[in-house]
Amino acid sequence: MKKDIEDKIEKLRESINYHDRRYYVENRPEISDQEYDRLMSQLKKLEDAHPELVTPLSPTQRVSGEILEGFESVEHRVPMLSMDNTYSSDEIREFDKRVRKNLQVDKVDYVVELKIDGVSISLLYENNKFIRGATRGDGFRGDDITGNLKTIRSLPLNINPKKDMKIPTLFEARGEVYMPRKEFSRINKRKEKNNEELFANPRNACSGSLKLLDSSMVMERHLDMWIYGVGYVNPAFFNTQFDALDFLREAGFRVNPYIKKCHSIEEVIEYCKEWEHKKDSLEYDIDGMVLKVDSFSYQKKLGQTSKSPRWMISYKFPAERKETVLEDIIVQVGRTGTITPVAILKPVELSGSVVSRATLHNQDEIMRKDIRVGDHVLIEKAGEIIPQVIEPIKSKRTGKEKKFRMPEKCPACDSLIKSIEEEVASRCENLSCPAQLKERIVYFASRNAMDIEGMGDAIIEQLVSKKMVEDYGDIYYLKHDELAGLERMADKSASNLISAIRKSKSNNLNRLVYALGIRHVGVRSAWILSSRFKSLDNIAQAEVGQLEAINEIGPIMARSIFNFFRTKENRKVIDKLKRAGVDTITRNPLPTTLTLEGKTFVITGSLDTFSREAAEELIRQRGGNASSSVSKTTDFLVLGKDPGSKLEKARKLGVKIIDEKEFREILK
Ligand SMILES: [Zn+2]
Repeated sequence: MKKDIEDKIEKLRESINYHDRRYYVENRPEISDQEYDRLMSQLKKLEDAHPELVTPLSPTQRVSGEILEGFESVEHRVPMLSMDNTYSSDEIREFDKRVRKNLQVDKVDYVVELKIDGVSISLLYENNKFIRGATRGDGFRGDDITGNLKTIRSLPLNINPKKDMKIPTLFEARGEVYMPRKEFSRINKRKEKNNEELFANPRNACSGSLKLLDSSMVMERHLDMWIYGVGYVNPAFFNTQFDALDFLREAGFRVNPYIKKCHSIEEVIEYCKEWEHKKDSLEYDIDGMVLKVDSFSYQKKLGQTSKSPRWMISYKFPAERKETVLEDIIVQVGRTGTITPVAILKPVELSGSVVSRATLHNQDEIMRKDIRVGDHVLIEKAGEIIPQVIEPIKSKRTGKEKKFRMPEKCPACDSLIKSIEEEVASRCENLSCPAQLKERIVYFASRNAMDIEGMGDAIIEQLVSKKMVEDYGDIYYLKHDELAGLERMADKSASNLISAIRKSKSNNLNRLVYALGIRHVGVRSAWILSSRFKSLDNIAQAEVGQLEAINEIGPIMARSIFNFFRTKENRKVIDKLKRAGVDTITRNPLPTTLTLEGKTFVITGSLDTFSREAAEELIRQRGGNASSSVSKTTDFLVLGKDPGSKLEKARKLGVKIIDEKEFREILK
């Protein structure tokens, strides 16, 4: 009986795998979607009734259902080396010359492939089963992303060899995962609707998706892959790249149909040029071509440099340029107040998308290139989604073109724009500028600043959009009932938030100085300012020279501090803070020597004699940094009770670990 069920399940799986291949790999389905769904639901039903028969490679298990904490690092059996690039036909010819010279032959066959703009991966198969998938990583070690790769429907979970077909016991297929353009625009449209940050290009979207820890989310991204070769193979039954590709295709991998074997370098160049013109007709991005010496024994003879094989090279397409008319220049206010001029272009198609805007970076750049409104301009898109204006075509000028001048006032709030010479940037420094408000408040409430617990992104978003606050000073005037009326805000959490806000009023001055968000003033300079000047008023009145006289404050920061306190709108906000009772005077004497200067500490677990915040504050007061995660730059890990995963990481990285007693000694 049981044997019958097992057989039935096995048959269904085989059949689904077969139809997956027909549909996702070969693009010639044999059955209707309904018939396919019927097979799948039959299998699911049987597996539900016999959970002991579920295997990880069953087609029902493409999504694992568990959420990972991170990816494990794995070693590649054969390193995944990077490739050298060429940019012209001449460079390709030189490569061919080198190859023939090294091999001492007159003629070499090459395999030419499309260079897919995606993420390189390695897929390991043992006894016809997919056992592991990994990213390229640094070429020697990558991340184990098996679960995420399984969600890609064209990846064969099992290989069903045709009769007489020889399959290596253990082998590695290599390829590129990519996001089709259509999928990319679908996802970005959705992100735009949800007011989320957009992906810059399909490659970014693809690599971001493969890093997700929940494979059900990866499944929704509809990634796909092209397999372009083998890595480790044992035993090998093929002697050339072209034969290896044949094998992969036979075994059910998705191998790109445009791969071509060329018998001379001129044929290679011609094929590269052909695709340079045709690349936009594809449904995915390619950024060049790859040529490989076909014969494996030649490849072996040629060997590799420390970085890249001598038998393979890429030809990168030049970035596409187009001419169009620059109709206007507008300015945009970024989230931190930077004002960026943006070119409004007559819409033109460039690298597969319609372009109507391009960044102009800053006023200096516009002057340097002498770009004027009304100019014919050349634009270029080099890999990124935001196109650039390369140069004006001056010969096409009619004399009616207008020079650009940075407006004097911020388009979002009408306050005066400051140009900051040293950074060639223009900025709106108004704390209440609606274009910057949300980010400013997030910063103000953050852990290193006023540390207002419970004041998260979602709350701030609502406060700003409902116009309940116009600047961060207004936080201190919020009422319990107003907060309780917000979405996802219970009565209790409103009370907690109110008391967290109240508590923050008596923070040390250094926190407030940092929270103000004065450009260039970080945690440490905020501490120096508050310990030198003792009160916010004193800092506000300081002249540039006085500020600059302090060792650690340079001319750029001094000017930035000076400007900040001389902006009318900012003074208004500071008055608001004072009236609300926010402490603006240094009360606790601060240590004067910076005994921990330049040292970075991370605290894990709970300490007996300090709260974590207090401990971090003490570190900062002594000139050290307190960080929340362990990295190569961490000097000390302070070990409290019930430490987390930071301990293991610190051990791995060889970070010095100290206990609370040793920590107290260091503070003395
Ligand atoms: Zn503004």
